[in-house]
Amino acid sequence: TIAMAVIDKMGHIAVGTSTNGATFKIPGRVGDGPITGSSAYADDEIGACGATGDGDIMMRFLPCYQVVESMRLGMEPKLAAKDAISRIARKFPDFVGAVFAINKNGVHAGACHGWTFQYSVRSPEMDDVEVFTVLP
Ligand code: ASP
Repeated sequence: TIAMAVIDKMGHIAVGTSTNGATFKIPGRVGDGPITGSSAYADDEIGACGATGDGDIMMRFLPCYQVVESMRLGMEPKLAAKDAISRIARKFPDFVGAVFAINKNGVHAGACHGWTFQYSVRSPEMDDVEVFTVLP
């Protein structure tokens, strides 16, 4: 899965996701990619979240909606991301997945379970993307 969040100079926030679902693909499977709130979610007033991992499990929790709503209630992106992942891990200890979270001010974080997760960030004042590694 590729999930991407963008904040424009007007403060509008968009998020999108794309996946071939190859790892978890069975014929006819839709997956979590097109499910709003599962693989991605954004709200201009709050921030955005994107997810990757075992979509068949993650879609039951709408983790990206959860992350944005937790940030709305005041959680920092890191805590919101960790909380969403741990809600899934409590019920499915073997699940593999990750989320990134970014708030409207550009503060970002990731959380993962079952694998090491990397995400990259680029802002106008940066010359290149910076890659962040998140350990489970
Ligand atoms: N979430 C995707 C799916 O289950 C897979 C992935 O993130 O690579 O289809």
